[in-house]
Amino acid sequence: MEGCIFCKIINGEIPSEKIYEDDLMIIINDIAPKAKKHYLAIPKKHYKLFSEMTEQDSVELGKCIRKIGELADSLGLENGFRFIVNQGDDAEQTVFHLHMHLVGGQKLRILDYKQDNA
Ligand code: AMP
Ligand code: ZN
Repeated sequence: MEGCIFCKIINGEIPSEKIYEDDLMIIINDIAPKAKKHYLAIPKKHYKLFSEMTEQDSVELGKCIRKIGELADSLGLENGFRFIVNQGDDAEQTVFHLHMHLVGGQKLRILDYKQDNA
């Protein structure tokens, strides 16, 4: 999608700290980490909201989530992590390409993840 920063990261037009890539998603370090570990798992298909997903998108997102489970230990999330998807204005979604925040590497307690808790 033109003008989408995550599409540009996926295409290599914008550099990122890429941790993992397969045919369905990339995992990068968040540029402004809110905890000791803060990754973004970004499906390669561009859409903004769950409500926009096709049946095929749901199959692919399911595979991405399963892969995240497989990778968690190697990402330093062996003690657990928080999985966050911001949708729309109330959640202050800032990048309109669906992505999953993987936050951990420390006790999170009540993390207001829009604040700096690192
Ligand atoms: P959200 O508020 O859920 O839309 O999250 C967008 C996230 O993308 C924020 O946590 C930003 O810090 C992160 N972000 C924005 N630009 C970049 C970038 N170029 N590389 C890595 N993370 C980014
Ligand atoms: Zn995009």
